[in-house]
Amino acid sequence: MVKCPVCSELLELLTTVHCEMVHGLTRQQVIERYGKPESFFMEFAKKYVDSAPVIRKRDFVNSQLLTDRIRSKTRKFHIDR
Ligand SMILES: [Zn+2]
Repeated sequence: MVKCPVCSELLELLTTVHCEMVHGLTRQQVIERYGKPESFFMEFAKKYVDSAPVIRKRDFVNSQLLTDRIRSKTRKFHIDR
């Protein structure tokens, strides 16, 4: 999937038909004027990487504690019962 650089419509491919029918330009002209169509998934991945928060120290510690608790439930605490 790519996004048309002119109208931002999602397309399987930037086709000559789309360019000519919708924009009255050849595919080549569209690319020359507006740049290559961006892969939708690449754009999505880029956005995700940009906006993905760095794992905070506290969250990391919490997950460590949780893991410890789960482990201890199945190991240590069973001995007490
Ligand atoms: Zn278009």
